[in-house]
Order: sequence, then C-alpha cells, then structure tokens
Amino acid sequence: MCFYWLSFYSIFAKKNIVARTYKKTEDTVDVVLIGAGIMSATLGVLLKELEPGITVEIFERLDVAAAESSDAWNNAGTGHSAFCELNYTPQKADGTVETSKAISIAESFEVSKQFWSYLVRSKLVDSPENFIRSIPHISFVWGENNVNFLRERYNQMQKSSLFKGMLYSEDKAQLAEWMPLVMKDRDPAEKVAATRMDLGTDVNFGSLTRMMFQQLQDKTDVSMNFNHEVRKLKQRDGFWEVKVKDIETGVRRVVKAKFVFIGAGGGSLPLLEKSGIPEGKGFGGFPVSGQWLKCTNPEIIEQHGAKVYGKAAVGSPPMSVPHLDTRMIDGKKALLFGPYAGFSTRFLKNGSLMDLPLSIKANNIIPMISAGLDNIPLTKYLINQVRQSPNDRLDALREYLPSAKLEDWELETAGQRVQVIKKDEEHGGVLEFGTEVVTAADGSIAALLGASPGASTAVSIMITLISRCFPDRVNTEEWQRKLKQMVPSYGCNLNQDPELTETIRTQTSHALKLQVN
Ligand SMILES: Cc1cc2nc3c(=O)[nH]c(=O)nc-3n(C[C@H](O)[C@H](O)[C@H](O)COP(=O)(O)OP(=O)(O)OC[C@H]3O[C@@H](n4cnc5c(N)ncnc54)[C@H](O)[C@@H]3O)c2cc1C
Repeated sequence: MCFYWLSFYSIFAKKNIVARTYKKTEDTVDVVLIGAGIMSATLGVLLKELEPGITVEIFERLDVAAAESSDAWNNAGTGHSAFCELNYTPQKADGTVETSKAISIAESFEVSKQFWSYLVRSKLVDSPENFIRSIPHISFVWGENNVNFLRERYNQMQKSSLFKGMLYSEDKAQLAEWMPLVMKDRDPAEKVAATRMDLGTDVNFGSLTRMMFQQLQDKTDVSMNFNHEVRKLKQRDGFWEVKVKDIETGVRRVVKAKFVFIGAGGGSLPLLEKSGIPEGKGFGGFPVSGQWLKCTNPEIIEQHGAKVYGKAAVGSPPMSVPHLDTRMIDGKKALLFGPYAGFSTRFLKNGSLMDLPLSIKANNIIPMISAGLDNIPLTKYLINQVRQSPNDRLDALREYLPSAKLEDWELETAGQRVQVIKKDEEHGGVLEFGTEVVTAADGSIAALLGASPGASTAVSIMITLISRCFPDRVNTEEWQRKLKQMVPSYGCNLNQDPELTETIRTQTSHALKLQVN
C-alpha cells in the first residue's frame, strides 16, 4: 500500500517540475521505434522489408541493444512452443487438459522460425547457430496426481500435429537416459513421469536482436540512437512529437514521426500513459523480478542436455515454473535453474524504484487496487520468495537435481517483467500474465505491454500489430506477397494442416540447422 501513497507524493512532486526546452528538428520520420529490444528489432526489420523506402529512427536509453529482458542471461532462452511448459495446458475441473493456448503458442513459434529462416536465407543475419540451437524440451513431474495430469496432457496433445514426435514415459531407466542428473539419487519409491520433444530449441534472443539491429543500421534511412531516452510523446497536426534526451550530453530534441512503436519493455507503460491515447487508459503494471542459479561446475554442466520444466508451486505466478535449462550462450554451454521470483518496484532492470509509484494515475488506480486485493496470495508468494535463504534455494534446486551442492551454483539477477493490470467490469481490475498490444484508433501509435510468452512470439505479435496499424497497406498485393515470402504459412492455420506443418518444419529446421523431427 505504501506504493500507492508514494504515487500521490509523485503527483504533487511532478507539478513542481520546471518545464524543459526541447530543440525541434526539421526532420520528420515515418517510424520511431522506442527501445532496442527484440520487439522493436522485429518490427523494424519487418517494416523495412515491407516498405524499403521508409525512414526509421530508433531510440534506446542504454548504450547497447538488447540489454534488458532480451539479453541472453536476462531471460531463459526457451523457444516457447508449449512442448514442455505445463502452465500453457491448464487442467480443467473434470481432469481433462486444455490445449488451445499451447496450440496457439506452438503456431506462433513456427511463425518466428519461418521469419528467422527468411533472415538467414536473405543473409540479413549471420549463422543461425549464433542464436538458435536444438535442445530437447522435457516436462518432468512427480507424485500420482501430477503423473496423471502429464499422461492426460500427452494424450490430448497427440491430437495436434504440432506436437508430433512427443514421447511419454514413466519408466525410470528411460528417464535416466533422458536426464541422468535429474534421476540420480532420487527416491526409488517416487512415482515420476516425463514427456520429451526433440524439436525443442534454446534461443539467444540477445544475439538475434543485436544482429537484426546491425543489419537495420546498415540500411539507408535508418538511424540508431543509443543513450537516448524518450521522455514525452504528444500528437499534434497528424504527427507524433517524440521528445528525447541524450543522456550523455544532456541535449534534448523533438522528432516528428508518422508512426511510433513503444517497444520499451517494462518502460512501455509510462510512455503509453504519456501518449494520452484513450486506448491506453486504465492499464497498470505489476513488476515481478527474478533470479537464477547459474552452475559454475563444468562437469555438471556437461552432464545435462535438456530444458526440464516442472510444475509451478501452488499460488505462484505462471511464469515462475521452475526449470533446469541447458543454454548455449556465445558458443558456450551453460546450465541455469530458476527462476526464483521476487518483487521490486522497478519496471526495468536498469530502472528506478519510483517506476511503479509514478505509473499510478487517476485512470488506473481502481484497476490496480482491485487487482492487488484479488492477488494477495501472489503477493505473499513473492514476499516469501524474496525472503528465501541460499539453503531454501538449494532445496528448490534439489527437487530437480537431488545431488546438487550450493558451492556449484551462483546467483544471477534475471530480467524484470511487468505484468499487465487491466480494467475489468466485474472485478474493477485484473492481473494478466500475457502480452497486450495497445493501438490508437488511427493506428498512429502502438505499445506492447506484458512479457509472456515473450520473445518467442515476437514475430506473430508484430504481424498482428502491423495489420492493426497499417490496415490499408497490409492488404495490398505487394505487402501480402512479401509477408508470404517472409512467413510462408502466413494466413494459414498450421494446427489444421498437418502436411503444411511438416513442410514448414522441414524447411525451417534445414535453414536454422535444427533437428529435423
Ligand atoms: C526472467 C525472464 C525469463 C524469460 N524467459 C523467456 C523465455 O524463456 N522465452 C521467451 O520467449 N521469452 C522469455 N522472456 C520474455 C522476453 O525476454 C521478453 O518478452 C522480451 O525480451 C521483451 O522484449 P522487448 O523488446 O519488449 O523488451 P526489452 O528487451 O526489455 O527491451 C526494451 C528496451 O527499451 C529500452 N527503453 C525503456 N524505456 C525507454 C525509453 N524511455 N527510451 C528509450 N529506450 C527505452 C530499454 O532500455 C530496453 O533496451 C523472459 C523474461 C524474463 C524477465
């Protein structure tokens, strides 16, 4: 509650801020991208491919691209396809398992892989092994109820060709082959089960993002500005005036843009609020921080070769599903466990403690209070996570690696997520764990809020955004042809077309040098 009081303080404090002068530049650009994460990179490349003549200006407050959530160590690097993430397949009251969300996420990842294949084929990014690798995706559970759930999940998933190739086993010898360290020193009486998908991937989204920006920068009419923070946004005479401060020199300027994308990750909500568009009213943000345990023992790292996802603890947010992940970062094999959730009022890892209080406005205070009251168990869970001792963390790790020793692991801070709070007629406000694309009615500005399923679905999200913001252009023959070239399954439903799924998967696996079925 003290954060809400802080917000009142901030409202008064803001009234005393002296008006700053921004230097107007004569230039008008077609597109301004705010933030140099994977979302802006994807949108920038898509738009430049669709309309090569457009002028683009990118502003990033840090001195390098992809240093917030998109950086390799700030996220888990899972190519989310719903192969192993149990939170995408909730169990219904009658015991059956719902797979619709899993299907939609699996389809979205196929779209991403097609676009990345296009980038590789067109030599717009370097070798695919610099950003994507095959790695088995395993779901692992223990206890009678969880085993029943996993078996039912597997049976339901067999109905979709998107999960073709998934294996299921309760046989301990088989499981020991799939994940020797996880099965070592485990109670022999324990009932366990796992599914395995060899088509799973580990993605270095940071590396991919930087490669996309590199090729964007090499194009004409694209200007990339690091150490530039966007402070204000105002629509005037059919343009957006974007007020930017150069953090190094202190120089302020105004850039006029026809279209603005607020791809500032956790920083998107405050900028959306500043834009004043009616569609942005009523949104709030709930920051969730995270930590990993990173293995420092090369012998242990070597013995594991999968992403092993378990079931989330009761009361925990869906993105806190624990997992033991083999990663490939900058050509080096690594192993991480987590995430351990936490609470911080920052909206960005490099943000300010005042981010949350300053985001509370008259139009979102009711949704935020309502969502807060409805999510007291989540708050308690996060507080408990923050209070965890190293031995508590070790206990959680030992559920996956029974023989783990604390000296082989070190703590790393992960990226910051800002979950979306939305107005809701019944509850006043609800906390959501997905992604929300907010666009102005005239299509001149769009913002991306939320962080799940995240970077893996960046391409689908940006194609949806393009169709909302550029409705006339998107239906032209030219754009339709180009979209089909970049994403051959564009306009088709893969789940209902096993043959197309097979063809697409073979093509993308070949282009991205991934495991073929
Ligand atoms: C712990 C964790 C685990 C995750 N695991 C996965 C996973 O396994 N798989 C997956 O697909 N996704 C995962 N995600 C989600 C994924 O990382 C994000 O969805 C994705 O990186 C978001 O990209 P973005 O471009 O929107 O934001 P970011 O990468 O955060 O980029 C936003 C950029 O905007 C800049 N910025 C902010 N404010 C301003 C301003 N005012 N002016 C200029 N620049 C500004 C920031 O400095 C930053 O560089 C995870 C996230 C977290 C935190």
